[in-house]
Amino acid sequence: MKIPLVDLKAQYASIKEEIDDAVRGVLHETDFIGGSAVSGFEKDFAESCGTRFAVGVANGTDAIFLALKALKVGPGDEVIVPVNTFIATAEAVSATGAHPVFVDCDPDTHTISPKGIEEAITKHTKAVIPVHLYGLPADMEAIRAIARSHDVTIIEDAAQAHGATYQKKPVGGLGSVACFSFYPAKNLGAYGDAGAITTDDESLANTIRMLGNHGRKDKYEHLVEGYNSRLDTLQAAILRVKLRHLESWTRLRQQHAAAYSRLLAGSTDIALPVTPADRTHAFHLYVVRVRDRDTVRKNLASAGIATGIHYPIPLHLQPAYASHPDSQRTFPVAERDSAEVLSLPLYPELTGEQIHHVVQTLVKSPANKKMRPA
Ligand SMILES: *Cc1c(COP(=O)(O)O)cnc(C)c1O
Repeated sequence: MKIPLVDLKAQYASIKEEIDDAVRGVLHETDFIGGSAVSGFEKDFAESCGTRFAVGVANGTDAIFLALKALKVGPGDEVIVPVNTFIATAEAVSATGAHPVFVDCDPDTHTISPKGIEEAITKHTKAVIPVHLYGLPADMEAIRAIARSHDVTIIEDAAQAHGATYQKKPVGGLGSVACFSFYPAKNLGAYGDAGAITTDDESLANTIRMLGNHGRKDKYEHLVEGYNSRLDTLQAAILRVKLRHLESWTRLRQQHAAAYSRLLAGSTDIALPVTPADRTHAFHLYVVRVRDRDTVRKNLASAGIATGIHYPIPLHLQPAYASHPDSQRTFPVAERDSAEVLSLPLYPELTGEQIHHVVQTLVKSPANKKMRPA
């Protein structure tokens, strides 16, 4: 039995007609930039996030970059980001000329440590970007209290968390502005690059839209030099179809995650994902921690089971940040995680039989046995 980490073919097969109709619709209209597919998706997406506005952009990295630009973050400013995230979170900060400041994560949830944020704040701090890592919302109440008392703006990086909730509110409306990626493998994935921001702040939404569309006021009147970062119309049409399925896909992800956790509960040497009671996990990834990860991973691979590592190198140890001042520091939790985290196959179309095969192989793994307490 071959089990991939994600299975985009299975998903397309399950919605082929709806998708093909939507794509054909755009081809017939030949309205390839903007148009009703984009505005329709933006309206639906804002509604699903419980925000007043959504603005489609070209990808998730641009979403963060444009949000920062609209907030006038630039050279001389500091922006706090978790050290255990995909590099895009920090890249977008550097692209504005501001300085990304790294913070360690919580040992149980893997999301950014509120205490770490408080310690990292200086008079130059303009914003903090909590990442809802693996689909689990960050500790927003604590982060909001810190942000408020230091006058720091919260930008959610919700690229992995479409459909997750915190204290019953969807991610996307938990800070001043939120950034989403629709990279194909994300919980809501396009068939190419795509992204969006959500916010309740009308002027921020308008500024982001203007910046991402050449600084336009009108077709040939430009308020500033902007960028070309629009949500592609074909992608918007596809996303609009897929958004209708997001809730049921999220429920399936949660059910598969619960099955993994139930079946692995007796394995004392496998640390399972933790979901605090005040939030729901969208399970973009089902991430366990195992001590002898490379051997466990090899054993799974020889049984046909693909796994992932999110992420093998924390940002402060990346070659790209060799001259970043934080490269000299240690981030003990992120460093431990980078050596032990293992992402198991998880996607809505995963079957019970596949889950059992993964679990059987994982608990039988010799490396895993060796670590069991005597
Ligand atoms: C995917 C991702 C991004 C960037 O998204 P792109 O659409 O690939 O630019 C940003 N942050 C996190 C945490 C991500 O996982």
